[in-house]
Amino acid sequence: MPPLMHGTLPMTARLEPWMESLVQDPELCKELLSDYGSPLNVHDYSSMARNVAELRDAAAVHDIDFQIYLARKANKTLGAIDKAVAEGCGVDVASFNELDQCLRRGVSPESLIVTAAVKSRALLKLAVENDVVLSLDNTDEVMDLLELTTSDGTPVPVALRLASSNAAIAPTRFGLSAQQWLDFFAQIHSPEVFSIVGVHFHLNGYSGEQRALVLQESLEFADALAQLGHKVKFVDMGGGIPMSYLDDSQQWSGFWEALAEVPEGDESLTWKSDRLGATGPQASTALYPYHQELIRGPWLEKILIARGADGSQTVGQMLNARGIQLRCEPGRSLLDGCGLTLSEVAFTKERNDGVSLVGLHMNRTQCRSTAADFLVDPILIKASGRHANDRSPYSGFLVGAYCIEEELILRRRFEFPQGVAKGDVVAFPNTGGYLMHIIESASHQLPLAKNVVLDGANASLDDIDQVGAGH
Ligand SMILES: *Cc1c(COP(=O)(O)O)cnc(C)c1O
Repeated sequence: MPPLMHGTLPMTARLEPWMESLVQDPELCKELLSDYGSPLNVHDYSSMARNVAELRDAAAVHDIDFQIYLARKANKTLGAIDKAVAEGCGVDVASFNELDQCLRRGVSPESLIVTAAVKSRALLKLAVENDVVLSLDNTDEVMDLLELTTSDGTPVPVALRLASSNAAIAPTRFGLSAQQWLDFFAQIHSPEVFSIVGVHFHLNGYSGEQRALVLQESLEFADALAQLGHKVKFVDMGGGIPMSYLDDSQQWSGFWEALAEVPEGDESLTWKSDRLGATGPQASTALYPYHQELIRGPWLEKILIARGADGSQTVGQMLNARGIQLRCEPGRSLLDGCGLTLSEVAFTKERNDGVSLVGLHMNRTQCRSTAADFLVDPILIKASGRHANDRSPYSGFLVGAYCIEEELILRRRFEFPQGVAKGDVVAFPNTGGYLMHIIESASHQLPLAKNVVLDGANASLDDIDQVGAGH
């Protein structure tokens, strides 16, 4: 059966079995929306086990010591933490509240790492009190930390965030170069306050080649730290492990080819012929690759078999030779398959120039990342009692609740071969990583979407939405 909703040029979502069952059950979707409001973030974390296993299997082939930390900023539910811990993973936290909630949830301190870009004194203090490894970004932060510590206490476990000096790697605001760190630690008065247990980096983008290069640089840095008497136990390569939302590479590349040909102002593919970041100065960061060939395990495998400049050892062998654990902090790719967002159709109407619109009980911060658009087709669930047999094909744009002309939920045009009506449900697949949470806002005093975990047909509110969450 052809889908009830698809992009004018389709981008067909890869669905997990639990998502298939849900979208085939209009009554359940309606009931969930009436119980919890629209939109609603629905979770089923079972896919995380597969995602973890794919990475671990690749690491096991090379017999490396390997550990995964879920990047919590990608999804705020406490259920995601529980699942990560149940799968033997740790958690990477980026703020005081993220850390506090994990500790209160019972995550053990050694399974946590603080990678916040800017660290409040309260966050530093909480980490120190609990012996949680801090990934240090800059020397002012170290000075804040020194004020909290005493030289007679146990040393504070820290990782140094490395900004690569390799010319092949784009400049980064994060971390310091190896030389900057070494110079700094040579001149501070009480080095025994710290125990440098790790080297950490996180790169923009998804390049395995770049990560192989910076992993080698990190190991050289670890060697230099060892000369100064520090025992580096791990190198953490951060996140950016690829996943794929779309199975069909043709849909992906075909869309971009077609969009490039669309005349200025032609709205047949996108709102106001939006190029979705494909051109202009922001092109590389505005675009997220919703289709990727090499994901998780096979991607990691390529990094581990990459060889150094002299060709003598692979990255996997270099890690093993030093007895150093490899860590990673996937957010998106660990949450692949874990979330879906339901939304109710509020209205259909024509823009005053005749362009068709579908209004949703939702705003655009509730299914969006920092990329220009979420390039995955939603699924229409025919759920309205009214107009059930009285529908004609429809083609238009999804608009949302903010009082802004550019308030589009998605910026592509969509086709509804059997129509669409108020009361129908639109499901956005695979939103668990970033899409539902990273920029959500309560602007206009509209409440944030609720988060539930689904177990068969039973939903329960995640503890992040319980009054006094985590306290
Ligand atoms: C955002 C972030 C991650 C997660 O990145 P993904 O692309 O979701 O895998 C991991 N580590 C750090 C330090 C980050 O800032």
